[in-house]
Amino acid sequence: MYQTPLPPEYAALSDQEAHDRIQAAKRALGDKVVVLGHHYQRDEIIAHADYRGDSYKLAKDAQRHPDAQAIVFCGVHFMAESADILTPDHQAVILPNLAAGCSMADMANLFQVKKCWSELASVTDVSRIVPVTYINSAANLKGFVGEHGGTVCTSTNAPAAVSWALGRGDKVLFFPDQHLGRNSGVRLGFDPVRDMVVWDPFKPLGGNTPERIREAKFLLWKGHCSVHARFTVAQIAAARAKHPNVRVLVHPECALEVVQAADLNGSTEFILKSVEAATPGSAWAIGTEINLVSRLAKEHPDQTIVCLDEQICPCSTMYRIHPSFLCWAMENLAEGRIVNRVQVPERTAVFARLALEQMLRVA
Ligand code: SF4
Repeated sequence: MYQTPLPPEYAALSDQEAHDRIQAAKRALGDKVVVLGHHYQRDEIIAHADYRGDSYKLAKDAQRHPDAQAIVFCGVHFMAESADILTPDHQAVILPNLAAGCSMADMANLFQVKKCWSELASVTDVSRIVPVTYINSAANLKGFVGEHGGTVCTSTNAPAAVSWALGRGDKVLFFPDQHLGRNSGVRLGFDPVRDMVVWDPFKPLGGNTPERIREAKFLLWKGHCSVHARFTVAQIAAARAKHPNVRVLVHPECALEVVQAADLNGSTEFILKSVEAATPGSAWAIGTEINLVSRLAKEHPDQTIVCLDEQICPCSTMYRIHPSFLCWAMENLAEGRIVNRVQVPERTAVFARLALEQMLRVA
């Protein structure tokens, strides 16, 4: 699916005009529309959101209004797909800009995962491997996982999902984020060297020997988040030197050494709750997307909140949900036209739904 260029009148809107027109369309639509805003969206988008959250929370929020005609998802493509799978067919899930994808999700595709699975079958018993995909993946990968008895996981429940998978088989094939898989395994007490191998989809057997594959408990897909991979142990040391008593809080998509050097790690919702529960005067260096960190700093002026990466690290794909695109999608909706509907084919959705429902059970 490709994004068509915006009509010129939308591209030329000022910030205020876009804001006012989105609000007017929202008022006209009333209960017919629900707007979801991911925490990594800019403030100008969050201003219109009925619900804010991370991908897991928003997947659940999408199910709260079964009578709404449309769900406008201000996030990225895989999130809109998950919302479409989990909501009734009469609801249209709209992604205001179809170019808003996720570079991590793009690091694993169905062709590569099927090839991986058949290569694994040549050296080990794949009936004893349970696939686990991070929610940050395409719907057809969730379908693959559902068809093979696995589950989707989130950054909140990844250790529990991995533990569930190891209760059903001998090994986990975890994709697309190697870091979340590794951090989850380490949290459960596994050794990141002895018990884990990385699967490079561009190498035969993922770059491993048959023996190492047979020994490993975790087969970690060689994928990563381009935002969270920027955080380093050196940045943590610099933050500790600059801000006495700072607590370092990072997302588990960061590398293992960064997670281990931090004071706390957890999902976006965990990061939010940690800051909300902190006392005035607390100091945080946070390793996650800059829009969220900046918003937390604004909403908690009694605390010192800085981003671990001083060079600023926005998620460039989330940023593609510009107010002009939201305005265009909302005004079309108010005039009875649905643009940018994200629809997962039912043959994919059947198995993807199994894997997503398993995710909701392992919360
Ligand atoms: S922050 Fe990373 S994982 Fe999240 S949408 Fe952006 S690229 Fe994907």
